[in-house]
Amino acid sequence: MAKENLECSFCGRKKPETNLLIAGLDAHICDRCIEQAHGIVAEESKQTKNQDLSSELVLKKPIEIKEFLDTYIIGQDRTKRVMSVAVYNHYKRLLQPNSKEDDIEIQKSNIIMAGQTGTGKTLIAKTIAKMLNVPLTIVDATVLTEAGYVGEDVESILTRLLQAADYNLEKAERGIVFIDEIDKIARKSDNPSITRDVSGEGVQQGLLKLLEGTVVNVPPKGGRKHPDQKFIEVNTENILFIAGGAFDGIERIITKRLNMQAVGYSASRAEDKVDNENILQYIIPKDLKDFGLIPEIIGRLPVLTHMNPLDKETLKAILTEPKNAIIKQYEKLFKMDDISFEITDQALDYIVDKAIEYKLGARGLRSLCEAIFTDAMFELPSSEETTFKVSKSYAEEKLSYETINKLKAVS
Ligand code: ADP
Repeated sequence: MAKENLECSFCGRKKPETNLLIAGLDAHICDRCIEQAHGIVAEESKQTKNQDLSSELVLKKPIEIKEFLDTYIIGQDRTKRVMSVAVYNHYKRLLQPNSKEDDIEIQKSNIIMAGQTGTGKTLIAKTIAKMLNVPLTIVDATVLTEAGYVGEDVESILTRLLQAADYNLEKAERGIVFIDEIDKIARKSDNPSITRDVSGEGVQQGLLKLLEGTVVNVPPKGGRKHPDQKFIEVNTENILFIAGGAFDGIERIITKRLNMQAVGYSASRAEDKVDNENILQYIIPKDLKDFGLIPEIIGRLPVLTHMNPLDKETLKAILTEPKNAIIKQYEKLFKMDDISFEITDQALDYIVDKAIEYKLGARGLRSLCEAIFTDAMFELPSSEETTFKVSKSYAEEKLSYETINKLKAVS
């Protein structure tokens, strides 16, 4: 066939009408058809990528989510239920097809958890991220400052989320951000200082922007924004925010409110009896406002829940029951040296008593165990011993007064 008679086998254009005509085995394709085909391929692969992301999300029903949480977190039943529902709804919202058939828009269920430190707030957030297979970042609200001041901009939160997602934007946009110590950015109304409240209300305003679900320009490497840096646009609409804080002193606010209510209503009914040991369980959004969070922030964190203080039984269970309980970890470590590790019930009680006595909390349990087991972990691997039995008196002997004082200093 003469060269000028060649034509594209897809659109039929003659060679002179094309910029380029590429020959295959027994067909030809022109530049325009190539471009068109490329567009189709790109669109198609984008869709499958989205489907992949959805299938990577392991969505479980609330009861299953709670069961999963139960294997890692002791107690905190109410919070685990509330979290299971909130997380379920959040991801249902993510997985729904983008149909505009009805005008019902499911709104975000960002969460706020109030509870003393070491009661498992971070652990819950981490466990949820593990279960859902989504990136998680944990940020400390105390390092955040208003733009222009020494400290980190709120956008740095998203930089970290991007890093946790290996810079996969789509993954990051479905991730979880855990903001710890949210109570530390409360407005300090009784602050006598006349300088600006750079780490308080200003930061809350900055955070609000993220919580609202907008597109935020994020410096990919973190640090301060500067004009030459390229930004990544991150849409925060589908990011689940979980905030946690100890809210020291909020008990007073809650008690005051409860007392006022008691004046208004008959307080004699049995169910009205207030459990003074755990005032936090009565927390309502208004208490957060009185504590110093701005109403807009509270509105964007609609699921409010609390953590119970850890009592003796819970601490003991934390030592032995969760999937990666501290004692199970030591068992495994010793087993690697063919040493069977045993600990008596009295020794466990002793460790828990010390954690309570010195207010070390759940975090202190590990430090106490380290202090007790270190000598054995040093000596036994080189010895002929095949068992290591920890009794109460052994634990007492290893935990000298000085060791406990050191632990107290760091906790
Ligand atoms: P918070 O974020 O409330 O300060 P964390 O979640 O960091 O507390 O808890 C500190 C550690 O204490 C956890 O890593 C975990 O080992 C242990 N812990 C605390 N609460 C629990 C719990 N309810 N169940 C199991 N472990 C817990």
